[in-house]
Formats: sequence, structure tokens, C-alpha cells
Amino acid sequence: MTTDPIALSTLLGDAEALLPEILEVRRRLHRRPEIGLALPATQALVVDELERMGLAARVGRTVSSVTAVIEGAEPGPTLVLRGDMDGLPLQEETGLEFTSETPGAMHACGHDTHVAMLLGAARLLLNRRDRLAGRVLLMFQPGEEGFGGARFMLEEGLLDLPAGQAANAAFAIHISTSYPAGTLNLRPGPEMAAADFVRLSLSGRGGHASAPHTALDPMPVAAEIVLALQAMVTRRVDVFDPAVVSITHVRGGTTNNIIPETVFLEGTIRTFSEKTRASVHANLRQVVEGICAAHGAVADLEIERGYPVTINDAAFTAFVASIGEELVGPEAVVPMPAPIMGAEDFSYVLQRVPGAMVFLGARAPGEDPATAPGNHSNRVVFHEPALAVGVAMHAAVALRHLAAG
Ligand SMILES: [Zn+2]
Repeated sequence: MTTDPIALSTLLGDAEALLPEILEVRRRLHRRPEIGLALPATQALVVDELERMGLAARVGRTVSSVTAVIEGAEPGPTLVLRGDMDGLPLQEETGLEFTSETPGAMHACGHDTHVAMLLGAARLLLNRRDRLAGRVLLMFQPGEEGFGGARFMLEEGLLDLPAGQAANAAFAIHISTSYPAGTLNLRPGPEMAAADFVRLSLSGRGGHASAPHTALDPMPVAAEIVLALQAMVTRRVDVFDPAVVSITHVRGGTTNNIIPETVFLEGTIRTFSEKTRASVHANLRQVVEGICAAHGAVADLEIERGYPVTINDAAFTAFVASIGEELVGPEAVVPMPAPIMGAEDFSYVLQRVPGAMVFLGARAPGEDPATAPGNHSNRVVFHEPALAVGVAMHAAVALRHLAAG
């Protein structure tokens, strides 16, 4: 007799039994990575896999997204499970037998594993439909890597559901070699940063380098701004609600004896709250305009908002952690001591419904954390047995969240 009404105890075993098929899908995707918002081959594979399970797949109008609904036996709310699908523009050098066959493209962030895990979870859930009160909305999104694929899906009506079926939670898993294989790493509140772009064109007046007083040299103005921005961050930003401003690209001038007319700067702004985000934008503008005014240069400043802060709902995070502890043991569920300065467009979904993203560790046992290639490295290798944990987690979160009677 079992005391587990949702039978979590069987999920991990079932996921492990499915692993060969899950890995077959993962490796097929890995061989054919696609980048951005248009992923026709990836989309076709996902549609095909869903239809073979008997699910109706819906594709996006403007981007290569796919959605499908697993309808529970009883009425209830909707839970979103998300898997992103895009690769990255780099040349794979892992030496794996299923290495990318597309030159200059690689699944270096493990989104191939996300697709495979979500498809595997769909199979586990289909076998347990009678346990679901409500429905699971499977969200396969393109263009996570800077293209805002999740936002396109929301604009196309991802969450526009009939009354009584509204989504009341969302869950995502991101694989990572930063953590030991099979561990689940998460934290309530801000988990990943907002990432905004700054671009700045400084105009002075060109001239002969031997007579700077006859010109208006934008070069020292640029140098002053780069340093002043670092002082701005340390003096104007609350250390307990931190920010990073990095100027990463400086372009100006042609040779040693010409003062250039313009200098171009660009960089990134990372923050963990809308408050600090707004204050950094305002202070950055003030620093740039003030320094330019002091020297008579003219600034053309553009601050483009990128992905917002990824904020895990505290209650849902505790719920996910408790399920993880039950599934893989308390020692394998690790609270993250600090957020990550990277950014993630699942944040747009979490702005609309409470939920959480968890990092699934996939660093192979015995690998040195100091030297193991990380996500976005062209040598990164994800430890495949860890995928069973991700498959079971997706299904367990859905079953518990939508527990029928
Ligand atoms: Zn990623």
C-alpha cells in the first residue's frame, strides 16, 4: 500500500526507464541546432513527437514556437511548463559522437536537453491524466538567447485562456554544469538579473593631435565617463540591491596624429530590482550628460531595456523545493546563496504568473568545478543521466500542483 497519493515515488523510476528515448531525441536535436526565433527543423521535431503522443500541437504565427495542452480528468487551473529550444552561434568542440553537424551552431546552453525533458515529462503526465485537476500547458519557445522568444509567445496569446482555466503557476528547468549532476538549485526572489544595453556616441570636433585646443577631443571625455560610471555604481547603488555596469566596447579614431570627431561606447547594465534598474538608468544619464556638458561634447545615449529580473515566487519556490526533496533527497536540493548575473526571458512569464525556475546540475561526477566547461562554452558536456531528474521534476510539479481531489 502506498501513502503517496500522487505516486511521486514511481516518477523517477519511470523517467529513468524512458531515458534512452529521451536521449535519442536530445541527441537528434543536438546534431541540428538552430539559432534565434526561426527554428523550423526543431519545431517540426517537437510537433512530430507531440502528435505521436496523441497531443494536438499548435505552432506560433510569428515565431517557431510550439504549444500543447495535456487536459486533466477534472476541471481546474493551468500550469505552464516551459522548455526553450534555441542553440548558440559557436563552433562545437566537444568531440561527442552526436556533435553538431551545423557549422557555427551548437546547443551550448543545453536547450536541446530542455526540449527532450519536457517531451519526456509529457509522456509521464499523459499516463497520469486521471490525477490532474486542470491542465498542463507545454510551452516550447524559440529565441531565449537574446531574442525574447517568450515575449513573442505571450504577445500571441499564450496565457489568454478561458475564465476558470487561467494559468496560476509556471515552472521551468535550466540545465547547468555549474552544479553537480542531479542536484536542484534554486532560490526565492530574484534568481537572475535584468540585462539592459547601453550605447553611447560622443561627438566633439576633430583636428590635429598636436593642437588639441583647436579641436574638441571626445577621447578623454569617453575615458572620464568609463571611470565615472564605476564610481557611480559604488556611490549611488545600494550594495544590498546591487548593479553591474560594464563598458565592453570602445571604438574611436584612426591613427596617432588625428583627434577623432566621435567615440562610440557600449556595454551592459545588470540589476536585480526595478528600483535599482530605474536609478542606474537615471544616474547613468546624469553622469554622461554632466561630463559632456563639462567639456562641451555632445552625447547621443541609448539605454535599451532587455530581459527583466527573473523573480521566483517565494511560496512556489518552497513548494518546488519540497517536491525536489521528496524526489531526489534533501541533500540534492541546494538553496542558491546568491542570484546569477545572467538573464533569462522566462522572466516575462513570471511577470504574468507566479512560478519558479530551477537549475538542474549536470556536471559529471569527478569533474573539477574549477575547470569544467560551463554553459555557453563550445566544450560544454552535460551529464545525460541527470535528465531523468529533470523529467521527473516537471511531472512531479505538475501532478502536485494540479492534484485531483
Ligand atoms: Zn540557456
